[in-house]
Amino acid sequence: MKSTIVVFGMPGVGKGTRLSNFLDGRETDYELMSVGNMLRAARAAGTELGLKAASYMDQGLLVPGEIVNGVVLEGMKNAEKNLITDGFPRTIEQATAMLEADIVPAVVIELVAPKDVVLDRALNRIVCKKCGEAYTLNDYRPPKVEGICDKCGGEVGRRKDDEEETVLERFAVYETDTLPLLKVLEEAGVEICTIDTTADDVDAQFEALMLKYS
Ligand code: ADP
Ligand code: ZN
Repeated sequence: MKSTIVVFGMPGVGKGTRLSNFLDGRETDYELMSVGNMLRAARAAGTELGLKAASYMDQGLLVPGEIVNGVVLEGMKNAEKNLITDGFPRTIEQATAMLEADIVPAVVIELVAPKDVVLDRALNRIVCKKCGEAYTLNDYRPPKVEGICDKCGGEVGRRKDDEEETVLERFAVYETDTLPLLKVLEEAGVEICTIDTTADDVDAQFEALMLKYS
């Protein structure tokens, strides 16, 4: 059966890293919708969506729902495989629109870590500008060749919105706008499962939940 799994957590907590580790070799069974990657790709391509989203992204603000909701929900409805979302929903309004479109996630996997740990991860994050793959400046997950993506050969570097000031702004937006949506999904009967990402077996825990709910 086809299901929708929402991967949730603070900016920089490691959603993309967990997903890369899980999806490696399983790409054919899942469809991943990373809204951040989609928006960055739209910008790079210079589409109307990308142009509209750019200034919000650079300030660490959410792109308004009227710009993103339609395209994301359309993509979710058209998914042909198990669908994983990274970065949607991010507001109560988006969660409500998703439920109203009859998309009810099988589970929300909430990734957590202390704020200082997440800040450190965000500041150490570098990404592939072409395919979005996440790497680190420290020795946790560096690219094999400095500055070059292992997967696609694209250029790997710091995201504009990973400067400390912008990261702190994104943390604030997460707390005020994003975190409260869990309650809305919980009230709609969606299971919320939380993983402490500082645990040694974080990838095993993540895999177990992904397989249970796919
Ligand atoms: P992170 O998970 O580290 O916050 P993302 O790559 O998911 O980074 O998102 C980067 C930016 O893209 C966000 O700061 C925001 O501007 C925009 N964005 C991503 N998802 C959404 C969404 N669901 N609604 C509005 N804006 C979004
Ligand atoms: Zn790449």
